Amino acid sequence: VLYADGLYKRFGVTEALRGASLAVRRGEIVAVTGPSGSGKSTLLHCLAGILAPDRGEVVFDGRHLERLRDRDRTVLRRRSFGFVFQFGQLVPELPAIENVAMPMLLGGAGRRAALAAAAAWFPRLGLDGLQWRLPGELSGGQSQRVAIARALVADPQVLFADEPTGALDSVAADQVMELLVDAARRAGTSVLLVTHEARVAAFADRSVTVRDGRAAAGGVVAA
Ligand code: ATP
Ligand code: MG
Repeated sequence: VLYADGLYKRFGVTEALRGASLAVRRGEIVAVTGPSGSGKSTLLHCLAGILAPDRGEVVFDGRHLERLRDRDRTVLRRRSFGFVFQFGQLVPELPAIENVAMPMLLGGAGRRAALAAAAAWFPRLGLDGLQWRLPGELSGGQSQRVAIARALVADPQVLFADEPTGALDSVAADQVMELLVDAARRAGTSVLLVTHEARVAAFADRSVTVRDGRAAAGGVVAA
């Protein structure tokens, strides 16, 4: 459903990507691992159309992202992609449920429908009763689960997650990963998961290692 071929990206003198290629099939969960600074986040951002590569192509559902106009790329991203990052991603002034509803509101849904869709995610992610809490009143693990709900509420085809459990202890991290994987499988969503933790990568179907800006096809992660 989504692939990148021969991506190059330079930041000043730093060559973050040097010929990175990666493909994600429909419904597949792929972990991207590798040392700090190897280019994992840069690769994710290029695949998500957030960052334009200097060279190479990114193709989603037969469409070349680099050939789309900025506006069309933004629309595609809103409609088809979901995002979860390490932290600092919820709007602190808005209650949890309004954070979750936001992608639907941006997509043009009415407020009532968006809040109803958002509310349905709370029990699924073990967040019962936390709908009207502000992000500052949630634990780290709860915040990440709210962020996962927000990423999935608009039914994306691909979920991009960059160190989604990086700020959590291992018990909370496992719980968040179980819920993320379960929710993605139910919805048939493909997941691109960046992590440097082997225990997090083990939740994926397959893992790919990035070294020096190149993605090496890794082995299949033992289930
Ligand atoms: P980490 O595991 O620490 O998150 P990473 O594998 O995600 O690392 P990237 O963030 O992709 O690594 O960075 C790859 C290289 O590109 C690094 O050397 C980094 O310093 C550099 N880099 C990334 N983003 C920028 C930027 N916006 N400006 C300048 N250099 C950047
Ligand atoms: Mg990174």
